[in-house]
Amino acid sequence: MEDCIFCKIIAHQIPAKFLEENEDFVVFHDIYPKAPIHLLVVPKQHIASLNDLTATHHDLIAKLMLSLPGIAAKHGLENGYRTVINTGAGGGQEIYHLHIHLLGGR
Ligand code: 5GP
Ligand code: ZN
Repeated sequence: MEDCIFCKIIAHQIPAKFLEENEDFVVFHDIYPKAPIHLLVVPKQHIASLNDLTATHHDLIAKLMLSLPGIAAKHGLENGYRTVINTGAGGGQEIYHLHIHLLGGR
């Protein structure tokens, strides 16, 4: 989607520190890490927020959630991690492209 930073990162139009990419989602480092390891897991499809999910996203969301333990284990979070999804202004969401924060490494 035009003017979406994460869509531009996914399209490799603006740089990010990519860790993984597959047909459904990408994983890259948060630019302002709030923990020693702070990853963002981002579906390639532009979905603005959790509030915009519909039943059509069922398989994608299942894949995303199921992939988290493996991503965490591969990138230094084998001792545990925090998952965060901020939703809407009151939830502190800054980027309106759905993403899961994976944090840990202390
Ligand atoms: P939100 O508050 O929307 O859940 O989180 C957005 C996250 O994206 C923030 O933690 C912020 O640091 C990160 N972020 C914002 N702009 C960029 C960027 O251009 N590149 C990367 N890698 N992360 C970004
Ligand atoms: Zn987007």
